[in-house]
Amino acid sequence: MSDSDRRSADDAGEHALLEFEHVDKYFGDTHVLKDISLDVEDGEVCVVVGPSGSGKSTLLRCANRLEEIQNGDIRLDGRSISDPDADINRLRQRIGMVFQSFNLFPHKTAIENLTLAPRKVRGIDEAAARERAEELLAEVGLSDQADSYPNQLSGGQQQRVAIARALAMDPRVMLFDEVTSALDPELVGEVLEVMRGLADEGMTMMVVTHEMGFAREVADRVVLMDEGRIVETGDPESFFENPETERGEQFLSKLL
Ligand code: ADP
Ligand code: MG
Repeated sequence: MSDSDRRSADDAGEHALLEFEHVDKYFGDTHVLKDISLDVEDGEVCVVVGPSGSGKSTLLRCANRLEEIQNGDIRLDGRSISDPDADINRLRQRIGMVFQSFNLFPHKTAIENLTLAPRKVRGIDEAAARERAEELLAEVGLSDQADSYPNQLSGGQQQRVAIARALAMDPRVMLFDEVTSALDPELVGEVLEVMRGLADEGMTMMVVTHEMGFAREVADRVVLMDEGRIVETGDPESFFENPETERGEQFLSKLL
């Protein structure tokens, strides 16, 4: 999505697709998300960076209601995800999430991993689920591995299956939490390539990553977190070339 598209959406007074508004999250007495406000627009790729322990994973997990928040609100398409009337299963279908560990069902083939939830949760018939799964496996470059089991696949292939599996639910937003961090270096590129393709197709994405090359190339916006707060947000070029905050400068200098 171009900046001008985004601005006109704002001007029209429409809400962002995913909105965090003054969100606080505590684990016991530990305040891990501090007054987080962030809008992710339809079609936007928002890359979240920051040191370990700064709250990046917690932020994504709250969006998917894997964690509850204590203050504030998170809305998907204008609807609060903590609305007691909201159907949590329906919500999770609309927010796809991929983690560092692939979490594929080990005793199911690649294609079965993709068809299981659409059939069981969405009630899609087997033929239609298979057809869609085949399309998605082709999209992630794994048509020839449909009948392979996870342990017959490389880490990069497994992670591509995991992405395709999340897409099989037709999510509105995809959340990626360090999806390449557990991979051997030579397998990172193929997974980033799939993510770049999704971004090009206009998928709305929140991506936590240490891959700064990817962030710079693919992000519409970079968000820097530190100690539970958003300390800086900007377009990738300004952020990487000319960070606004001292914290931003420090973060970038440690990458060199
Ligand atoms: P990041 O993903 O940026 O490394 P996290 O969101 O995982 O950061 O963690 C943020 C903070 O919350 C850390 O201090 C971490 O120790 C704490 N934390 C994360 N998960 C839990 C949990 N389940 N229970 C208690 N503390 C947690
Ligand atoms: Mg994390």
